[in-house]
Amino acid sequence: MQNNRVHKNIALLGSTGSIGTQTLDVIANFPKDFKATYLTGNNNTSLLLEQIRRFQPKGVVVSNEKSAKELRKQLGGKTEVLVGEEGLLEIVQRDDVDIVISALVGFAGLKPTIKAIEAKKKIALANKETLVVAGEIIMPLVEKHRIDLLPVDSEHSAIFQCLVGELPNKIEKIILTASGGPFRTKSKAELSKVTREQALKHPNWTMGSKITIDSATLMNKGLEVIEAHWLFGIPLDNIEVVVHPQSIIHSMVEFVDGSIKAQLGIPDMKIPIQYALTYPSRSRSIFPRVHFPTLSEMTFFEPDHENFPCLQLAYDALREGGTIPAVMNAANEVAVAKFLRDEITFLDIPKMISKAMEKHTNKANPSVEEIVDVDRETRRNFQ
Ligand code: NDP
Ligand code: MG
Repeated sequence: MQNNRVHKNIALLGSTGSIGTQTLDVIANFPKDFKATYLTGNNNTSLLLEQIRRFQPKGVVVSNEKSAKELRKQLGGKTEVLVGEEGLLEIVQRDDVDIVISALVGFAGLKPTIKAIEAKKKIALANKETLVVAGEIIMPLVEKHRIDLLPVDSEHSAIFQCLVGELPNKIEKIILTASGGPFRTKSKAELSKVTREQALKHPNWTMGSKITIDSATLMNKGLEVIEAHWLFGIPLDNIEVVVHPQSIIHSMVEFVDGSIKAQLGIPDMKIPIQYALTYPSRSRSIFPRVHFPTLSEMTFFEPDHENFPCLQLAYDALREGGTIPAVMNAANEVAVAKFLRDEITFLDIPKMISKAMEKHTNKANPSVEEIVDVDRETRRNFQ
């Protein structure tokens, strides 16, 4: 019986990624509390195979039939191997899943997250793109099915933690902190020459390549503004971004009386991942701690909108609403992939996104299928 189990069964979507592997590290620290029941990968089947050997899941999902066949041969029938989006949609609904961790990158996270909500699973959400493209659909669905949607993104976990015990109508504003990325102090002329290797070196976090480039362009912060708007129901004008290069304060909430709460910690995604899993409780961890006397400084700056226009594009997209955020998201995914293949320059990324947004005829209150169509069309136009 589901309720008599001691441990919680987890479906970890994107187990071979940066969040996925760190989630497995957390799960490994709590073998009595959590079991990695389903794992999923896309291209990295060798890492997935290692994870299967170590965590013994009941089932896994891979991207295509060929990889599935090879994996089945190596596993000798011990682990169920499912395929593609169909496989992802299948596992998130199963009775032997208590928590779905949505850690796919990009638009691919949308449909499995929706299915998991409809199946009334507790969800730990890393895949911010889901809320960016369809927040207007997701949040009412979360309410309808009365599920916990717990943020994994460090800023949103920080805000979520600051809001524990507070009344929603007493929030004045949310202050999202941003590291500013590796190019914070560069001039436009310098930015025109930055390479993919430089962009992939984030000063404070080790993450997947897409979000690392998003952090360098500040699109990541733009996506996070939209994510915060939907998660916490805060109007856009009450969400402020402040650059804090040390990434010790993960975000803040200012209340109507002028009091500000912040959540702090060393920059390590395992902390918000663990909190999402153990919420509403906390468990002891062995992660390194902040030692204030050795923190030389904590500094704060206004974001540079001139050199990093992606942040403003995200504000514009959210203000317009409808299908525009999906266009912005798809154009960004295409532009980042092109930059990673050395096909366009760093400064071409915001140009491509802005062009895609300008060309689009917006549609209000889109359905999921309309969002999927807009995503597909934008990719086709800008490939
Ligand atoms: P990665 O690129 O490291 O991992 C992505 C995962 O998704 C991998 O398991 C990958 O499989 C799988 N995947 C990629 N494309 C598809 C697809 N089309 N269908 C099915 N599976 C797919 O990304 P991150 O872990 O960095 O990021 C995941 C999400 O979490 C993103 O939305 C990101 O914005 C968010 N996030 C990440 C943070 C971080 O520190 N990394 C911090 C905060 C939020 P494979 O590798 O096998 O190809
Ligand atoms: Mg973040």
